[in-house]
Amino acid sequence: MAFSLTWLPIVLQEAGLKVAECDGWQNRGIGDVGGIIGVICHHTANPDRSRNMPALNGLIHGRTDPTPLSGPLAQLGLGRDGTYYIVAAGRANHAGKGEWQGITAGNTHFIGIEAENTGGHDDTPWPAIQLDAYQRGVAAILKHIGKGADNCIAHKEWAPTRKTDPDFDMISFRAAVAALLAQNVPPRPLIPAFEPTVAARPTLRRGINNDPALVRQVQQRIGTTADGVFGGGTEAAVRTFQREKGLVPDGIVGPITWAAI
Ligand SMILES: [Zn+2]
Repeated sequence: MAFSLTWLPIVLQEAGLKVAECDGWQNRGIGDVGGIIGVICHHTANPDRSRNMPALNGLIHGRTDPTPLSGPLAQLGLGRDGTYYIVAAGRANHAGKGEWQGITAGNTHFIGIEAENTGGHDDTPWPAIQLDAYQRGVAAILKHIGKGADNCIAHKEWAPTRKTDPDFDMISFRAAVAALLAQNVPPRPLIPAFEPTVAARPTLRRGINNDPALVRQVQQRIGTTADGVFGGGTEAAVRTFQREKGLVPDGIVGPITWAAI
């Protein structure tokens, strides 16, 4: 039976955010969560800066280093391109020992979001698209559970003697979340199915019914197998191409990527 947080993908999608579901997420958890009252923000501290979400496997399966901890390690992963990876609908080992307003069972009462960032000077400032998605995702979750921006806390606030993540200022982060909740910020447009300005070139992406001829055209240009199917390999190759061109590596062939191709 699925755990409680099965509403996560739809709530994030309705906020205009990109979502990738990790196989089995509905049934993943160390038991179920209790009454959710807020969100704890984390960064992964993974040293690999070359990929979008290198920590994902660890979030799903747990870690052995420095101390063994069984997965899942968060309900959500947030990639550098602003994609939310749905890891678990149940309880996750993200909070550890800590306290907030008298509550000590962090894993039971908070959703954990692990955002990909090394936590070092080599990874500052955060990509604007990732930070924007972080604030919008937190706001969407808080709105869904009927709580305000104050119920978004940092891991470093939950466990100040042990933790330093995430390495951005929480006062301005919460102010941005509060503005989103007050709807003082325009909503993100939902991800369009078609490129709005040039009707002849539809947006191509994994998981939709793409025109095979156009997919083949893209595959030939970016140097991957031209089979006309937009699968995982093509998506990865598009990300690599986008990275080489200095574009946001979201794996989606939209107007900017079409122009580069
Ligand atoms: Zn943390």
